Amino acid sequence: MPDSHRMEPGQSGQDVEQVERALELLIQGLGLDRSDPHLKDTPRRAAEAWVKELCAGLNGPQFRLTTFPSESESDSGMVALQQIPVKSLCAHHLLPILGWATVAYVPNGQLCGLSKLSRVVDHFARRPQVQERLTNQIADFLQTGLHPQGVAVQVKASHMCMELRGVNHTGLMTTSTLRGVFREDPTLREEFMQLANNGK
Ligand SMILES: [Zn+2]
Repeated sequence: MPDSHRMEPGQSGQDVEQVERALELLIQGLGLDRSDPHLKDTPRRAAEAWVKELCAGLNGPQFRLTTFPSESESDSGMVALQQIPVKSLCAHHLLPILGWATVAYVPNGQLCGLSKLSRVVDHFARRPQVQERLTNQIADFLQTGLHPQGVAVQVKASHMCMELRGVNHTGLMTTSTLRGVFREDPTLREEFMQLANNGK
């Protein structure tokens, strides 16, 4: 189990009541009709969604990165998972970032369950984020937890802050990070990039 808490950007504790009050102010500030029955429970309902789901990653990892020894004597091939959903929020506008990640590593004697790769992505996505930081945090976490020969992460996502405001433009942002053998070995890097780009 890596010392994952050290990598948390700032766990100051979440306060549902305070978020609820902020959402009441938002509704007020927008000049909405407070007597609209559809808005009656919105601050509470939305506060719970923010704290328990959209920002669930701030509560620390809800899983353990359990590892088990790899069967093969020489680990040279990569283990990869494609099309991992990325559901995040942009730290600059608090609007959704939606996309997919491809995560791969070349083991160094230790493997983790494939579903853990999805959980690592979700853990770092479920909070206000910056896509580049998300990509690096996923790689750092796997580096610390698995000590692999290399790790590679690619995230492709659309940012609602770009689609709904500003340029009002649809676009896919791609970020990637390559560590260890993925950086050193062009064949492996190519293999990863093909997987990542064919995924979605
Ligand atoms: Zn933004």
